[in-house]
Amino acid sequence: MVEMSQRQKYDLKRKIEELKSSRGKHTELISLYVPPSKQIFDVNSYLKNEFSQSQNIKSKTTRKNVLSAIESIMSRLKYFKKPPENGVVFFVGHKSVEGDQTQMVAYVIEPPIPITTFLYRCDSSFYTEPLEQFLTEREIYGLVLIDRRECTVGILRGAKTELLKYMTSQVPGKHGRGGQSQRRFERLTEIAAHEWFVKCGEKISEIFQSEEEIKGIFVGGSGPTKQYFVEEGYLHYEIQDKIIDIFDTGYTDEFGLKELVSVASESMTDLKISKEKKVMKRFLKEVTKSEKSLAVYGESHVKKALEMGIIDTLLISEDLRKYRLFLKCQSCNYSENRIISENDLQNFHPQACPKCNSSTNMEIEDKIDLVDEFSDLAEKTGAKVHLISRNSEEGDSLYMAFSGLAGILRYAVDI
Ligand SMILES: [Zn+2]
Repeated sequence: MVEMSQRQKYDLKRKIEELKSSRGKHTELISLYVPPSKQIFDVNSYLKNEFSQSQNIKSKTTRKNVLSAIESIMSRLKYFKKPPENGVVFFVGHKSVEGDQTQMVAYVIEPPIPITTFLYRCDSSFYTEPLEQFLTEREIYGLVLIDRRECTVGILRGAKTELLKYMTSQVPGKHGRGGQSQRRFERLTEIAAHEWFVKCGEKISEIFQSEEEIKGIFVGGSGPTKQYFVEEGYLHYEIQDKIIDIFDTGYTDEFGLKELVSVASESMTDLKISKEKKVMKRFLKEVTKSEKSLAVYGESHVKKALEMGIIDTLLISEDLRKYRLFLKCQSCNYSENRIISENDLQNFHPQACPKCNSSTNMEIEDKIDLVDEFSDLAEKTGAKVHLISRNSEEGDSLYMAFSGLAGILRYAVDI
């Protein structure tokens, strides 16, 4: 299973934001998902068919726009002999811009994780849900459902739940016949239950020990058995240590797996947030130190520290949304760069050159997302990068109080 890096997630998230901001006047934006297993030839036939179907669209402009979008995809498809490793997604169409105008946009995205299903959609917005699913945490969790009758072992990879093992027991019901044999019956039942738990414990431990990446395990079931099973130590201690929480579920079979995931989802989010909080707390503790502080923050200081190679951990707010603009004078080649927020970028117009005062204004030569700039620098110097959401007070303070960029140094230095 491919894990996406935080950086890939961020890039994908930004791309999705961009796609979502595009709106068609009518149903004229096309989304096409091509999984790696699909033959390009088949995709082409599919599009040809869509093309002839679309000739029937009543509105003249919509028809024209849809047909040109399909044509555009078909011409782009020619560059592929076969789909890339993870498949490819096309988003093409005429989006509405100011007034009554439309503008043709085309995105070709090779996702960081394989696409599984072929999908064609023509709508007034781009269909981004399958890509968005990649963004939900792809961490791996173990799932166990147990009572005296059934035991189900499953795994959650990202948003996908898999059944790994389903077992049923021979343990008789608690209520036997009355009379003298009652005690003997109960004793036999308890022995059978114990054997059942031993068997389940061994199987569960064996399954999860072969899954190295498991972040934690959730246990569910309808009665008190699950608690008993966990507390009595039927699981291997390494597996036992990974149990995050125990929940009540109505089912202990495959249905129960989905149920368990849904009740445990809050714990999973908390886990992510608590990881972010932890690293932020480390930073905040350094900030308050009056001497030998390892904290550094703000664009210029963090950049300098990164260039010096002394940042151990880089903290970037997920909501940073800033760019560095590279400006150049076309007459004297004077250049400068400046940081600007995404909101200000729309209305930004370069000024005259401060050096030669040329009558033509400076031009924007290039722009780079600060997250990319800083992550690249961090990668070069082996600093760990944490993208921090604003879902915790600590995460919010990174954005609000430290301009979204901070670092923990390897050793204390005056910058
Ligand atoms: Zn100049």
